Amino acid sequence: MKPQPGITLIRNGTLIDGTGAPPLPEAAVVVTDGMITYAGAAAGLPALDPDIRTIDAKGGTILPGLIEAHIHLTYFNVTELQDLDIKYPVEYVTLQSAVNAKTALECGYTAARSGGCLHNIDVWMKKAIEEGMIPGPRLSASGREICGAGGLMDWNPDYRKIGMEGIVFIVNGPEEARAAVRKLVKDGIEWVKTYPTGDAASPDINDHHTLCMTFDEMHAVVQTAHNHGLKVTGHCRATEGIRNALKAGYDAIEHGTFMDDECLELMLKRNVPMCPGLGFEKFSVDRGKEFGMSQRVIDGHQETLEAGAESCRRVLKAGGTIGLGGDYGFGWTPHGTYAQELTFFVDYVGFSVLDTIRCATLGGAKMMGRESEIGSVETGKLGDLLIVEGDVMKDIALLEDRRNFIAVMQGGVVKAGRLA
Ligand SMILES: [Zn+2]
Repeated sequence: MKPQPGITLIRNGTLIDGTGAPPLPEAAVVVTDGMITYAGAAAGLPALDPDIRTIDAKGGTILPGLIEAHIHLTYFNVTELQDLDIKYPVEYVTLQSAVNAKTALECGYTAARSGGCLHNIDVWMKKAIEEGMIPGPRLSASGREICGAGGLMDWNPDYRKIGMEGIVFIVNGPEEARAAVRKLVKDGIEWVKTYPTGDAASPDINDHHTLCMTFDEMHAVVQTAHNHGLKVTGHCRATEGIRNALKAGYDAIEHGTFMDDECLELMLKRNVPMCPGLGFEKFSVDRGKEFGMSQRVIDGHQETLEAGAESCRRVLKAGGTIGLGGDYGFGWTPHGTYAQELTFFVDYVGFSVLDTIRCATLGGAKMMGRESEIGSVETGKLGDLLIVEGDVMKDIALLEDRRNFIAVMQGGVVKAGRLA
């Protein structure tokens, strides 16, 4: 991704730097050849050439670019999981994915970590974005997912004879788990996404208290993945699944819904980051009926929502790392609505605006393992910035409407917003 050559000054805004530090009014940020070289009080600015490029934040808010910590670029606003494996071929899903990547960037998301994808599209999407072929967030790629036979992602009965290899490896035992990871190694991914547990979406056979992989399978995934330098994460709702994942050596936890004391302790001990992806539960409860969800499914989402919110509050209080985002790309959480996750964390979960922004920026960067480069507005980091008209501290929902964006910048280049 090419940086902006020369010097850019951003002035006349309040800086929320993403570290959790209090907002700094009358701030200025200088980006030099794509890197932040000054972030602080405008009064302390070093002497600058008067004819450098200047961006007026119009008394609004200067933030780090947002980071989606669990994105599914290849999900095309489906209403059922089953739609993912049979509706469209890889060619069409790739195009959908490119459009979604552009949308995410326009929504202020300058980086994103994949939570799993169809085929091996993320790896190539990442390459195309890095090369500047298509606009999109800096991406951390997952690939096809891994789930135990009969688990959440193994939804096609055998008589249908539908292969699932485009979306998930269905494994039976540690040997098959190892074989699946070895295929992913060759795909060039960074994250191995697994399914330790079920979900409220599948109340009959794989609900949110069901295990979908054995500890031995999970441990085999981790051993093989770590041997090849890959990281492992998993869809973890049930307490036992979270515990198994942490004991097996997982590098991140998705959801972390029914977290008990032991799980929390295990998580903090290795500082394993978590992406709750919790807004999805609220929006499923609110809009489920409209999309034909049964009352049992909605009740399951309600239980998940309440337990998940409590887990998030506990992890935050205990000083754990949280990244925000998750599971946008369903009918009731369409692409382009990612920032409602932040409003939800403030309004429903009860996080402060500053904590919410910290999780949605630096937290995501930590999950990606790129906190030295992105995630906060600090000297030495990439000039990935979001400049918003209005006071985000007063109204977090300003981030939901991209018409409020003056600029979305990657490496100092204005990629979206009014100035693009
Ligand atoms: Zn997901």
